[in-house]
Amino acid sequence: MKGLVHCSFCAEEIYEGQEGLRLLGRYICERCEKMIVDSTVEDKSYFLLKEKMKSIWFAW
Ligand SMILES: [Zn+2]
Repeated sequence: MKGLVHCSFCAEEIYEGQEGLRLLGRYICERCEKMIVDSTVEDKSYFLLKEKMKSIWFAW
């Protein structure tokens, strides 16, 4: 049975190794993964996303 983990971005429950992405020991759900992948430097949300990532990374 797979362990249940929480997305580091939106705290959504995901099954370990089954959905989403594991990044630096954190889990990211498919939705947030897509959001990250779809972002580009030109994207207005890029900076906000980066800042959010930073705050999450350092908050742990
Ligand atoms: Zn998520």
